[in-house]
Formats: sequence, C-alpha cells, structure tokens
Amino acid sequence: MPYKGFKSITVREEVYDKLWKIWEERKDKCVREGITSFSSFITNLLFEVAENYEAIERAEKINRLLEDPDVYNAFMEALQHLKKAHLSPRFEHFNCYEDHVTLWDRKLERLVNVYFNGKPPYVMCELCGRSDCEHVQFALSLPKVVETLRARGWRIEEGKIKYVPP
Ligand SMILES: [Zn+2]
Repeated sequence: MPYKGFKSITVREEVYDKLWKIWEERKDKCVREGITSFSSFITNLLFEVAENYEAIERAEKINRLLEDPDVYNAFMEALQHLKKAHLSPRFEHFNCYEDHVTLWDRKLERLVNVYFNGKPPYVMCELCGRSDCEHVQFALSLPKVVETLRARGWRIEEGKIKYVPP
C-alpha cells in the first residue's frame, strides 16, 4: 500500500498514551496479523475508523434516539419481547381434549391441532397433514397426553407410538 503522510498530526498526550497502551496490549496479535509497528497500527486503526465511520455515526444516532425515555422504553420492551420469544420454547401446550390436543406454535403464531385416532396412522397433525412433524413430536412429549393415551392402552416410548390396541 503506498503511503501518503500527513504533514503532522498532533494528538493530546492522553490520546497518545491510550493508543500506545492499546498497541502494547495487542502487539502480539497485531504482529501475527502483519502489523509490526506502532505507526502501522495507527494507520490501520485510522483505516478501520474510516471504513466504519458510517456505522459509528449510525450508532451515535441510535444513542441520541435512546436519550428520549419514551423511545428507550419502547426499545427495551421490544428487546424483551424478542429475548422472550427467542428463549421460550417454540411450542406451548394449550389444551387437551378427548380426541386431540391443541398446541400454540410461537414460530407460526397460531394454534395447531394434533388428532389421535384408533386407526393408523393413529396420530395426525391437522396443519402439516403428517404423523411425524414437530407438532406431533411435541404432543407426544406431553406427560398429560401420554398418560391419557396410556390409560387407553396405547404404548408410547420416546415420543413414538409403539402400540395401539385394536
Ligand atoms: Zn405439524
């Protein structure tokens, strides 16, 4: 990379000291990456800042926005919502009926019915039209469902139907 020098850049002593400290801390890593001197470290740093200037500006804009308590609260609320949606399991057991169980699918944001029947394939997801989808798997992992079906003579092992009495 050809060099173009600034005639002189003077920085405040504290800035220089801070930069020098960072350089000292990261020297080993920098050298491995081919940045072998303090001046090339600074050049590199300036380059990174120039490259990311827009991103930094955007971040500052966001910070300014967040100074407004209403915006801040709305943002935090949205964040909590996202976090909750991310952390909570995809399915929620909603209701148990005589011949089916209703689940809440958080990803699809809808209710899904899984039906049980004495005839093959014995279990059927209303949404997927399958007996081996995630909804069926979740339904068959619910203790309440397993208990109810076992009481009717079904054998369920590891979320799979092994036997249904005729
Ligand atoms: Zn399904």
